[in-house]
Amino acid sequence: MFKVQFNLFSQLDLHPDLLRGIGALGFETPTPVQAQAIPPAMAGRDLLASASTGSGKTAAFLLPILHQLIGMPRGTTRALVVTPTRELAAQIAAELNSLARFTPIRAATIYGGVGMAPQEKALRRGVDVIIATPGRLLDHLSRPYGNLDSVEFVVLDEADRMLDMGFLPDIKRILARVPARRQTLLLSATIPSEIADLTRRMLKDPVRVDLAPRSAPASGITQTVYTVAQGEKTPLLVSLLESGEVQDALVFTRTRRRADRLAKQLVKQGLGAERIHGGRSQSQRTKALAAFRAGRLRVLVATDVAARGIDVEALGHVINYDVPGAPDDYVHRVGRTARAEQTGDALTFVSPDELGTLHDIERMLGNKITRAEKPNGSGARRTQPNGHNEDSTSNGAPRSNGAPQSNRGPSNRGRSSGPPNRGRSSGPPNRGRSSGPPNRGKSEGGDHGRQERAPKAEGTSRRRGVGSRRGTPRGRR
Ligand code: AMP
Repeated sequence: MFKVQFNLFSQLDLHPDLLRGIGALGFETPTPVQAQAIPPAMAGRDLLASASTGSGKTAAFLLPILHQLIGMPRGTTRALVVTPTRELAAQIAAELNSLARFTPIRAATIYGGVGMAPQEKALRRGVDVIIATPGRLLDHLSRPYGNLDSVEFVVLDEADRMLDMGFLPDIKRILARVPARRQTLLLSATIPSEIADLTRRMLKDPVRVDLAPRSAPASGITQTVYTVAQGEKTPLLVSLLESGEVQDALVFTRTRRRADRLAKQLVKQGLGAERIHGGRSQSQRTKALAAFRAGRLRVLVATDVAARGIDVEALGHVINYDVPGAPDDYVHRVGRTARAEQTGDALTFVSPDELGTLHDIERMLGNKITRAEKPNGSGARRTQPNGHNEDSTSNGAPRSNGAPQSNRGPSNRGRSSGPPNRGRSSGPPNRGRSSGPPNRGKSEGGDHGRQERAPKAEGTSRRRGVGSRRGTPRGRR
């Protein structure tokens, strides 16, 4: 019944004031998840959507709710969006404010790391939409003023991530406080059994929108693997940055400690870098993100949890300095580039002890990721003047000095034509040459610290203009 494909937002029968907001954002055609989810959700149906980050899922759940809210009286909180991280909450709020800018609908965010008072005020005055992370919302719900008795619309965003972060009991407690007569929209990149179970109990005859039958990064992302000794990862990154092959990048490490150390090494090499992770204060994270977005930093080093909500428009490169422990994290990380069907490059540095994990990821993707040779001279530079790399585990053979300078003109700034030697795959993939069982979820080596965990405190960050396809301060396209 909802199988019709819509090529234009105007075909979706959304309220004209929302169409104006959509137009002002520069969105022309609905993304596949929007085309499939918006009509049934506008009609009041529950929804179970599996769609990966970057698919346009935020507008897919916001628009039908905003459409239904427009005609209702103000002064009552009727919609609740629950999302795993404060960054994501802030981004959803930003997208809502943009979409609803020609409507009277208002939203407030509720997350930790910032004062309770303004959030309490928003709850007391009945702001139309609350966008919340679970922990802080429950804090409010334990106070006398805290209730969700008027909520008619509930969104559980990135449900699988909330599950990973241990929020499932919190979500159940929150849902127990929302009237049973409601519309529930659940979005999740994957549907593990716990989510399927939640769905069966919490959703009523949901329409299923399944755009990700298996986890896969958006098309348009060029993925490349560099096989590199653990100790050569930093020199390789430095070389890619110095040669201009990579102009700027969001770089993922598996632990906070590795993020700190890498950022420090890059700064030592004269490369502007900052890091965001759960151990950094909200203002430190916000500052780092703002500097990166404004083009003042070439590298933002991040852990999975901290990076969850980051949306830097059309980020050119995502670099997996460490192979993510869980295949789904690979998709989420890589989804930071090629947002909304643009193009992007995802480079993954794989040390021999990470090959097993890489094979897990490739199994999930259903294909082999292209292997690239290291660029000439990469690894020649040491991060320590004495030639001893802090990270080093290898005593690699001598290499030539420095990477060749890119001769790309200014028109190419901010966007490389791809990683060096792309396509010159280094022969057959290392199939079966795994160094052992996958290293899932464990930190490698002895010095990497504990795996990043969900941040306790929650705060805010804003993203750059939603949906803008124009130039950016970084010159990213
Ligand atoms: P999401 O998957 O919701 O995080 O969205 C990814 C990015 O795509 C965000 O920057 C959105 O603003 C943008 N976006 C969402 N829908 C559209 C659309 N129909 N056309 C162009 N960009 C969009």
